[in-house]
Amino acid sequence: MAGRAYLDWNATAPMRAAARAATVVALDAGNPSSVHAEGRAARAVVERARAEVAAAVGATPRQIVFTSGATEANALALSPGLELCDGHAHRDGLAVSAIEHPSVLRGHRFGTLPVETVAVDCDGVAQPATVAEALARLVARGAVRPLVSVMLANNETGVIQPVAAIASAVHAAGGLLHVDAVQALGRIPLDFRGLGADLMTVSSHKIGGPKGAGALVVGPRVAHIASPLIGGGGQEQGRRAGTENVPAIAGFGAAAAEAVAELAVAADRMLGLRRHLAERLLAAAPDALELGAAVPRLPNTVAVSLKGLSAETSVIAFDLSGVAISAGSACSSGKVAASHVVEAMGHPGLAGSTLRFSIGSTTTEADLDRAIGVWRTVVGALANRQGKAA
Ligand code: PLP
Repeated sequence: MAGRAYLDWNATAPMRAAARAATVVALDAGNPSSVHAEGRAARAVVERARAEVAAAVGATPRQIVFTSGATEANALALSPGLELCDGHAHRDGLAVSAIEHPSVLRGHRFGTLPVETVAVDCDGVAQPATVAEALARLVARGAVRPLVSVMLANNETGVIQPVAAIASAVHAAGGLLHVDAVQALGRIPLDFRGLGADLMTVSSHKIGGPKGAGALVVGPRVAHIASPLIGGGGQEQGRRAGTENVPAIAGFGAAAAEAVAELAVAADRMLGLRRHLAERLLAAAPDALELGAAVPRLPNTVAVSLKGLSAETSVIAFDLSGVAISAGSACSSGKVAASHVVEAMGHPGLAGSTLRFSIGSTTTEADLDRAIGVWRTVVGALANRQGKAA
């Protein structure tokens, strides 16, 4: 089998050469908290990466808190212990969209406080009016200082959420907004200031940096995180204790700089490839549904559902033919779970019948054509089985 076609960039992106080089060099770094020359050199590496990540997301370096990844950044953000500049009130309730990543849905720290789910429409969009309804339900339950979490782009469908309008609705209700922007970074322009969010999460390995680094971006309205996840030293302005993972952070910075520098060209190219792929997938299976096709989406993601298709066995068939794709939500055990995103979009019958193809800057048309060939075989076999059963 000649090589493989890797079409699972939303799970993790191949490491960029620049990120690899920066990571390897930083393996020899000292402790950034040490005052001697070795320590100061390590501090310079971390601060350079901080400036690169800040520039990539439209924030200032002081707003960046490095973490071990997006899962940790989400858990750090989603806690009642957030204090505002104009008072010291804690958050007393949480609203999350139904299509969030499990690190939001299950990783938040609101315990027994009221938590409301924001439904999405059939295109997979959390409408600002629906967010306002969830906020009203929180008020009815006694929560008047809510935190809201809505992702910028969904990892399974690529559907982009109207975050700026949601931010206005949340702020009008006295709330704070957290945005998981993990899948948006490097695929669409990302501007923390322009979004109007108060907190934002990004991850290194989704943009070709090393695994084990991410960041929480903390906006000016959040004065203090009173409940850090890890206590200890005063690193990251006391928001995240522990010696910084200097190699991973250095690689993250290099990846962020490169991803943003190439964004305009890469996004155009990916969009062309995405269309090439989607057209051919649907031509081979006219009954298939392309999720979120009617609304703005990432240029790199195609999710297709087909009644009767087993996503789990299809992923294996693709893998055996040298093509890496994914199905709905992949559990850490490697087992494929039914997609809560597809269910939330009103297609419970398709939650185990959805495949995700996600591409990146080095994907070629030949990679896609190989996937299309496997898809034709898979849907042909399904049609055969259904024909026999009829
Ligand atoms: N949020 C979203 C939208 C994701 O897609 C992922 C990874 O799949 C995460 C959070 C978690 O990222 P990390 O692997 O950096 O913890």
